[in-house]
Amino acid sequence: MDKARRGFLKLTGTSLLGLGLGGAAIASAPHKPEHDPDAGPRWAMVIDTRKCRKKDGCSACMDACHDVHNVPDIPDENHAVKWIWKEPYPNAFPNQVHPYTEESVMGQSVPVLCNHCDRPPCVRVCPTQATFKAEDGIVTMDMHRCIGCRYCVAACPYGSRSFNWKDPRPYIDKVNAAYPTRTKGVVEKCNFCKELVAKGKRPACVDACTADGNEGVLIFGDLNDPESNVSEALRTANTIRRKPNLGTAPHIFYIV
Ligand code: SF4
Repeated sequence: MDKARRGFLKLTGTSLLGLGLGGAAIASAPHKPEHDPDAGPRWAMVIDTRKCRKKDGCSACMDACHDVHNVPDIPDENHAVKWIWKEPYPNAFPNQVHPYTEESVMGQSVPVLCNHCDRPPCVRVCPTQATFKAEDGIVTMDMHRCIGCRYCVAACPYGSRSFNWKDPRPYIDKVNAAYPTRTKGVVEKCNFCKELVAKGKRPACVDACTADGNEGVLIFGDLNDPESNVSEALRTANTIRRKPNLGTAPHIFYIV
């Protein structure tokens, strides 16, 4: 076996071992203080599902995200690629429902996307560091480093990652030249619009939702700034996160 292949297998084994053994450790890790004004931004999102359910059937956030990022619209569900989509409430929060959960809540579909976890298992298993967590907390992808092993897809407990089983380009209605298209054989997911955030803009989903007259449904901001809109939303409303028992520390919060 050549040296490079041995190194790859060693790294992969270590990553998978880390995923298995690390689970218990991270699940019991204490929460660190949420605000760290001395650090740079830590981007997060609050989704107010109470306001979202008033707009049943609305797809403004999904349409905007997928248009901006050249996400293909592949009819075959087995090959579908998605960055943000809607999930029935009991699927999104499987261990946070009970027989007395309000019917209107149970019947709702809520927007779900990559949680930009503080302790992302997808990053732990990637053998090429194609996926990584940036300083600002955004879990992102370097498509050029992705070898299509799909360990990250298996490791993500939220189904937030899609694999390009086929060339996605024929399935893009209108290509946005400002954002690169992908190829067959790579994984992709929500990037929190890091290309827009770097320019001081809001993510496309937030803009589209607000433009559609839905102020305060999707709230994006800096968790390290106690005065930010997300910090205020977290201070003034009770929020839940998806599958908190896994210890991944998602940075998408839901007001239900
Ligand atoms: Fe990774 Fe999944 Fe968490 Fe996103 S939601 S950071 S893909 S584990």
